[in-house]
Amino acid sequence: MKRELIVAIDGPSGAGKSTLSKLLASRLGYVNIDTGAMYRAVALAAHLRNIDITDDQALGRLCQTLNIEFERLADGERVLLNGEDVSQAIRTPEVSLLTSAVSARPAVRQSMLELQRQLGAQGGVVLEGRDIGTVVFPRAEVKFFLLASAAERGRRRFEELRAKGLSVELERTIAEVEARDEADSAREHAPLLQAEDAVAIDSTALSIEQVLETMLEVVCRRRSLANLPRGGCS
Ligand code: C5P
Repeated sequence: MKRELIVAIDGPSGAGKSTLSKLLASRLGYVNIDTGAMYRAVALAAHLRNIDITDDQALGRLCQTLNIEFERLADGERVLLNGEDVSQAIRTPEVSLLTSAVSARPAVRQSMLELQRQLGAQGGVVLEGRDIGTVVFPRAEVKFFLLASAAERGRRRFEELRAKGLSVELERTIAEVEARDEADSAREHAPLLQAEDAVAIDSTALSIEQVLETMLEVVCRRRSLANLPRGGCS
């Protein structure tokens, strides 16, 4: 039987990956996989257990003990770490910065790579992250690279954090977004990189709906080429 597509969305922080990945998956009836949340959960666990994040062996052992799951509810998605809801705890600015460091460690990448491949192998998935189209699923049928200016990405993250009631400063949020991009792009293992065959979309001056429509066009064209049912494609 034909399997549905694997859709990869990569790009820097705050480019709109999470929002668009969820919307796209929902329109297509696909499962959405937020790989950043998985790395965030590992970083939170390392922090709570006081693990030295330069100790690869300890991080590798930690990953073996973690059960990371996504729970899909009517009002959104929850991230569970060993059964506990950590959806809020993994989104603080401190955990964001720690995640960039933890996710650069080879033991962590290897462990998450295996998990992500298992979760996506059946197709019918949208995975969002930094290395989905280059490392996790280099043969994904559809790849997007979502961009936006650093100032715009910082502003979006600032609004998002403020809406959650966190006390943040715009300048500082922009600087943190830039620092995270720098760390994610400069690292040795699976750096943030645009796949050669990815469709790049700059969302700086586009609305969410405009980006979604562009993505749907690309996915639907690919589905039609693969003779897949039209579900979600008008
Ligand atoms: O996408 P999000 O901002 O939640 O990702 C948090 C961090 O997780 C990123 O800054 C990056 O360091 C790491 N990450 C990664 N590879 C992925 C997804 C996220 O290294 N596929």
